[in-house]
Amino acid sequence: MDEEADKREQNATRNENADCVLDGRDGRELSVRVFDPRTQIKTASTPLTHAKFPVVDVHTHVFYRLRHNEKALDDLVAMMDRNRIAVCTSLDGKLGGQLEEHLDHLWKRYRDRFIVYANIDWRGDGSSDDPSTWACHQQGFAERTAEGLRSAVKRGVSGLKIFKRFGLGYRNPDGSLVKIDDPRWDPIWAVCGELGIPVIIHTADPAAFFEPIDATNERWEELSRHPDWSFYGDEYPSREELLDARNRVIARHPKTQFIGAHIANNSEDLRTVSQWLERYPNLWVEPASRISELGRQPYSSRDFMIRYADRILFGTDGPWPEKRLHFYWRFFETRDEYFDYSEKSPPPQGLWHIYGIDLPDEVLKKIYFENAARLIPGVKSRVEKFRKSIE
Ligand SMILES: [Zn+2]
Repeated sequence: MDEEADKREQNATRNENADCVLDGRDGRELSVRVFDPRTQIKTASTPLTHAKFPVVDVHTHVFYRLRHNEKALDDLVAMMDRNRIAVCTSLDGKLGGQLEEHLDHLWKRYRDRFIVYANIDWRGDGSSDDPSTWACHQQGFAERTAEGLRSAVKRGVSGLKIFKRFGLGYRNPDGSLVKIDDPRWDPIWAVCGELGIPVIIHTADPAAFFEPIDATNERWEELSRHPDWSFYGDEYPSREELLDARNRVIARHPKTQFIGAHIANNSEDLRTVSQWLERYPNLWVEPASRISELGRQPYSSRDFMIRYADRILFGTDGPWPEKRLHFYWRFFETRDEYFDYSEKSPPPQGLWHIYGIDLPDEVLKKIYFENAARLIPGVKSRVEKFRKSIE
């Protein structure tokens, strides 16, 4: 193992040295890692610092990103005020005691500004390396979870969030991956329909993460920095298998509303997502962390957003630095061309720029808050309160 570590270190040093040498100067080759081109295009730029209408962000991770830091929460609410974000959805509610803690933290002072989703405790007190001890493999797990959700909803919880490890990480006692459409979980999906709360589900990941990390991968630069984000190889199901399994669950539970996180994780292929939206009337989508994809196909994105305006919500995957939020407003509201989608350099998801899609006001309103108010319990009254407060 020490030898392994040594080798890794040597490789890292070699790469660093290579980067110094491959600087593109004086006829030398250029490493992708140091390529940082500045555009010479000069077009109109509309640096928006807030949304045109009130916004409901249906995808934020208040606990994972800020923990329970009071000052960070104050700063977040101040940023929401500046950007006209009425409500953020914290997807990190968990269940039981941890849920109580999270609700206390958010609602002690900002009950009007946050709604909370619960999560499923698949592992329980089981040991991480022995799936046979996990809660989800014990008799009656789904029924117990359904009960937990019932009391969470009584407590004010607005939905259920399913993380991407479902399908790509959690394991059965025999070592195989837990299947998304395993009928054992059906009572959980069913109770969400019964309780009238949506399930926001993250399934699979960007298409490039399922391809080899080589010279043909358009996200090589990102994957070379995060090789652990790759799901390429025999040990993982294919992306299609995962998305199909999720779609089977959506088809099997027509009374339950599902929000496919990150444009149902297929923002690279809006024609297929359109087919899903046609086929499954209980599917909704949101664009968290995907303006990078949507903004490089502005004509398709604009058509898609207008056509399915009643089924699209707004989400960011934040809290992010404020600058990144501003790119969302620019993407949805302007005709700006070839601008950054992230405050980071190099841009984290790929070395490209995006275009604004200039949505009409009535579509913006639906996506920003009207659809969320229709779909998600607890949103409507909060948005109304917020609108009154800024009048
Ligand atoms: Zn997320």
